[in-house]
Amino acid sequence: GKANIGVVGLAVMGSNLARNLASREGNTVAILNRSYEKTQKLLDEHPEAGFLPARDYEEFAATLAKPRTAIIMVKAGRGTDAVIDELVRVFEPGDIIVDGGNALFTDTIRREKAVRETGINFVGAGISGGEEGALNGPSIMPGGSAEAWQTLGPILRSIAAVAEGEPCVTHVGTDGAGHFVKMIHNGIEYADMQLIAEAYDLIRRGTGKSPAEIADIFAEWNRGELESYLIEITAEVLRQTDPATGEPLVDVILDQAGAKGTGAWTVQTALDLGVPVSGIAEAVFARSLSSKPAQRAAAAELPGPDGTFDIHDADAFVEDVRQALYASKIIAYSQGFDAIVAGAEQYGWDIKKGDIAAIWRGGCIIRAQFLNRITEAYAADPGLVALVTAPYFADAVTRTQQAWRRVVVAAAEAGIPSPAFSSSLAYYDGLRADRLPAALVQGQRDFFGAHTYKRIDREGTFHTLWSGDRSEVSAVDTH
Ligand code: NDP
Repeated sequence: GKANIGVVGLAVMGSNLARNLASREGNTVAILNRSYEKTQKLLDEHPEAGFLPARDYEEFAATLAKPRTAIIMVKAGRGTDAVIDELVRVFEPGDIIVDGGNALFTDTIRREKAVRETGINFVGAGISGGEEGALNGPSIMPGGSAEAWQTLGPILRSIAAVAEGEPCVTHVGTDGAGHFVKMIHNGIEYADMQLIAEAYDLIRRGTGKSPAEIADIFAEWNRGELESYLIEITAEVLRQTDPATGEPLVDVILDQAGAKGTGAWTVQTALDLGVPVSGIAEAVFARSLSSKPAQRAAAAELPGPDGTFDIHDADAFVEDVRQALYASKIIAYSQGFDAIVAGAEQYGWDIKKGDIAAIWRGGCIIRAQFLNRITEAYAADPGLVALVTAPYFADAVTRTQQAWRRVVVAAAEAGIPSPAFSSSLAYYDGLRADRLPAALVQGQRDFFGAHTYKRIDREGTFHTLWSGDRSEVSAVDTH
């Protein structure tokens, strides 16, 4: 028999995805890797999977039933282009090439356009959940054509994570929509992680509790509205003792956070789209700051509070931090969905926001009950202009904003950096402000650059003759 699906690239992600596919009823999986050792290793270790191995692209194409469908799981970038070129060479019109790697969505748009000209379908699919997800059920965000989704949909539904009975996969939109949404997912993940880290830091310094005690607090939070995979694993990490020293593991890990770039992509894209994803940006920048040991050492003696502070009611403070975390998290997700809305508009994608929240409920790193509330908000109002204004979320910030302010004040006074908490609050206050000092900025811009301004009381565009008699003219007169 022939294979109904193939996987190219058998490093950790590809081999786990191939095993996941093979374990589902009705699938026969063809496998190919640039170097044959990885193929042989997978065959040896998993004879039960019934893989059909190929040594080259010709054999791979011959092993696949038509329309041929292959998922690429190779190193993103040039490796992906190299594999696409080979597949285009051996595939035929109507066949489907899926890139499941972490491609930049603009690369996916370019590749889709080029591959489509050959009559072959190209689908960029964001796959979230790491190795574990690839093996047991990831959250999958496919783009590409509706035609390709017809064939691909049932296969991807069979391997995706399941949340409340629903597979965590949906056709996100055309060409790069899937990789775009995966990128935003990762951006939100950065913000969520940074917020949790700030919450931990504030509790530890504010109350003197040990990491193990704080693990208990996170485990408790995980039973409430903050319930999520990230809160759950945070408790696990905080509870871990270093076998070598007997110290809490978190105290022996070097405090310089790494990044593989998808958070930065989100921020760069949001800048281009003009969407303030300040929570995500602060999270990306917080990792950058942490990874500047020379600057940190040089600044270590600069004045400021030493980060300790006295909390008379530890329980009340912990509850304040919990509420600040929830409020800030709402802002991070609200900003992430703003970026999805703006991207959909810019690139012509018909993205169902509620469906995106729904497929993030399982398999991926930001999976959480909370996402149901987002799905409900967009179901109630598909044209919702800002997630934070939806009734459920507006209620949540109404309930939590006093605590949020207390926490940001306490952090500032104690000299504890809380960039994501405080910028989320500033964003919230900016959004709800009746008047913003943007009026003054417009005045400044008009002064030095004759950039003009609009008035609150009259139609039109105006300019003040700053270097003349300072009278106001209608802007058309100045050009
Ligand atoms: P790697 O990113 O380490 O890539 C290794 C694989 O790529 C090997 O199979 C390698 O073949 C192949 N490869 C590299 N260059 C070429 C080339 N020029 N031509 C052909 N094949 C090439 O593998 P991972 O399994 O870690 O990740 C695969 C993809 O999944 C990546 O895009 C990555 O970003 C993404 N990923 C996603 C995660 C998630 O949570 N969603 C987590 C981790 C990764 P060879 O064996 O011959 O060297």
